Amino acid sequence: MKKTLYKFATVINLKLYGDDESERHFKAVEKMLDDIDQQINMSNKDSEIHAINEAAGKKAIKVSKGTFDLMKVSIEYAKDTQGAFDPSIGPLVSLWKIGNGGEHVPDVNLINQAKSLVNYKDIIMDEANLTIKLAKEGMSLDLGGIGKGYAADLVADYLHEEQVESAIIDLGGSSIIAIGRKPSGEQWRIGLQDPDRERGEQLALIQLDNETIDSSGVYERFFMENGVRYHHILDPKTGFPTKNGLKSVTIIGGTATDADVLSTAVVVMDLEEGMAYMKQKQNVEAMFITEDNRIYMTPGLKGKINLTNTRYTLVE
Ligand code: AMP
Ligand code: MG
Repeated sequence: MKKTLYKFATVINLKLYGDDESERHFKAVEKMLDDIDQQINMSNKDSEIHAINEAAGKKAIKVSKGTFDLMKVSIEYAKDTQGAFDPSIGPLVSLWKIGNGGEHVPDVNLINQAKSLVNYKDIIMDEANLTIKLAKEGMSLDLGGIGKGYAADLVADYLHEEQVESAIIDLGGSSIIAIGRKPSGEQWRIGLQDPDRERGEQLALIQLDNETIDSSGVYERFFMENGVRYHHILDPKTGFPTKNGLKSVTIIGGTATDADVLSTAVVVMDLEEGMAYMKQKQNVEAMFITEDNRIYMTPGLKGKINLTNTRYTLVE
């Protein structure tokens, strides 16, 4: 059975196969997604992350274990990616407002000011008391680059506990978990989004079972000004949308939380740095699409991607 939900500005598609309790599962998942929204959605004024942002520079806020642990993972990745992924990106996200309509390139002084507030080292975590404090006033957290993966993992945990053996969890077409195999016993065939086309138009298919896929790209949310595309993945070092020859990155493997962070982080890096970074990671593969429509991949993906669109070239 299929169900579409709309939560945290994301279209969520769930497909459960061979299970006569689907309706019960859909209800449970919906409740779970609402709880996640209350924890980590910075745009939700009742959320824990919103409370932390409101109290920036003033006080520590007590949070749930889930939020605390997710922030811990976010900070570990911020260190590991040398700040390419930074959960304290909030001031820049709020300034650019990409995807909200009526955007324009902000004044460079404002960009520099916002940029100076982005630094994961200024997030103060207190494990014993489960509190989080932002050291400086004006700082803010934004978990948009990790939240969908986190939510997908929790939904998958639930479905595993309920012994659902065949399912697809799809958050916004960017965080996908395939559970088991198709009811027929065949592998799933997952379409990879064509970065230049409408959502749902594919450039390649990949066959797999029990796997996680996460994509990030400059096509997801953006505005144009003077012929330049300004998209939603920001480089904490420059304060501007990244501009490094990459259109999109797809990560395959790991938890969906890992894959979500990694795809965002690697878009911030360039092809060379991102490839080197991904090659030293175990059990996670990456596929990069460059602006000149070439597709590069880590060795573990060779032979697994079937191109369905001739505008692209696989670099084997
Ligand atoms: P994704 O679509 O997973 O790549 O995440 C993009 C979202 O992550 C953006 O809409 C922002 O909310 C947030 N974001 C943008 N740039 C960064 C960054 N450098 N580090 C962490 N989060 C970011
Ligand atoms: Mg991401």
